[in-house]
Amino acid sequence: MPTPLPAPYPVAISASAARLIGADPAALVADGLDVLAGNRVPDRAEPLSAVYSGHQFGVWAGQLGDGRAILLGDVPTDTGPIELQWKGAGLTPYSRMGDGRAVLRSSIREFLCSEAMHALGIPTTRALSVVGSDQGVIRETIETAAVVVRMAPTFVRFGSFEHWFYRNDETRLRILADYVIERFYPDLRNEENPYAALLEEVTRRTARLIAQWQSVGFMHGVMNTDNMSILGQTLDYGPFGFMEAFNAQHICNHTDQGGRYSYAMQPQIGHWNCYALAQALVPLIGSVEQTQEALDVYQGVFGATVDELLHAKLGLQENRDGDRALLDEMFGLLQANHADFTLFFRRLSGVRSGSTDGDEPLRDLFIDRAGFDAWANKYRERLRAENSVDAARQAAMNGVNPKYVLRNYLAQAAIDKAQHKDFSEVERLLSVLERPFDEQPEHEHYAALPPDWAAGLEVSCSS
Ligand code: AMP
Ligand code: MG
Repeated sequence: MPTPLPAPYPVAISASAARLIGADPAALVADGLDVLAGNRVPDRAEPLSAVYSGHQFGVWAGQLGDGRAILLGDVPTDTGPIELQWKGAGLTPYSRMGDGRAVLRSSIREFLCSEAMHALGIPTTRALSVVGSDQGVIRETIETAAVVVRMAPTFVRFGSFEHWFYRNDETRLRILADYVIERFYPDLRNEENPYAALLEEVTRRTARLIAQWQSVGFMHGVMNTDNMSILGQTLDYGPFGFMEAFNAQHICNHTDQGGRYSYAMQPQIGHWNCYALAQALVPLIGSVEQTQEALDVYQGVFGATVDELLHAKLGLQENRDGDRALLDEMFGLLQANHADFTLFFRRLSGVRSGSTDGDEPLRDLFIDRAGFDAWANKYRERLRAENSVDAARQAAMNGVNPKYVLRNYLAQAAIDKAQHKDFSEVERLLSVLERPFDEQPEHEHYAALPPDWAAGLEVSCSS
């Protein structure tokens, strides 16, 4: 059962998430605040916390489980049942040394990023609400508590499977796999080996997901196997970040000293995580060779997806010899010039195939102007090679290269105000991030380079 949150107040609500479960957002806040806070359990709900284990930073960590998440139940929707989960609603049987709470800061970050990722078209769990309280919570300093209600068809993780595998409990392992197949992958039931087919499909989805992360510069920060969704959705937002000044080795999580989850490492770690899932499924698949085969789809799917996404980002319709070199040179320039990832791709659409007239805003992002000019000329040549039409290409590129992403400093500014009970910035930021591809002239400053103070921001596992 959730632990009541003293004197709860609404911090944020996602109208689009509310509508997804057929709820009216205003009514939900007015009449349902006690439910959103975990202070009232809806009729017919049977709260539960789930056990799982996992590999944390590459090391087997043993049992973890929902230490501060409690499932309320599910709601039928047009796209199937959606589960609702409180995060931060107090102690559970799996809280271990933790207090079962989440702080306002990390709750706002999870809320905003879930909804921002959804708007970017990237598979993710959703966030319905954030409810705050003045109750103190001890982290590095004393902060205040909040409860997020998040939503997903399921919160089953790779670590849920690892749990029963490492316990040598094949019966429960099979029950879990059958449940996941039956409910979320029904088409796989008729495959000759449904468990191998499940592994292959999850591996494909994971490869695609991480290709999508790379394409918008999203870094998860804690890609432990207990944070990997069996549906291939982005799950468990903690010390995530969006790439700003491009550095492939960037580590967004201050706790990740070794850079295991750096931007450049994410694709490999995604594969590693699928490997951990694969190992747990071997007893059900019944053949190491078949397991390996299912796992082997990762690189091909990842490579093809990244290729497709990058072509779209550059507005290229065809795949040609030499494209790889053009892309490599581009990333080399971004790296050497610390150019802002989001602004670079957004401004790239202004480049014209027949003249340098539209280059200036993009060129401004580079210190090495000559290097930029040389690359831009190659890019132009490549555009002409496929008879690219400027206006059409620009429109297409602006539909895939977001103008607005959840930069750390934007989240921090909203958090600072919220900590003083002003929630208007959370709401405004949400509305901007819900339309990441649109020009929003009144919100131009949300697309700006981070201010100097942002360089000092650190996000860690503490949440
Ligand atoms: P995370 O790194 O946030 O995905 O969490 C790893 C594990 O620690 C999960 O089992 C969480 O449920 C648990 N955990 C994190 N924070 C808390 C907390 N404040 N209280 C209880 N368990 C927690
Ligand atoms: Mg987690």
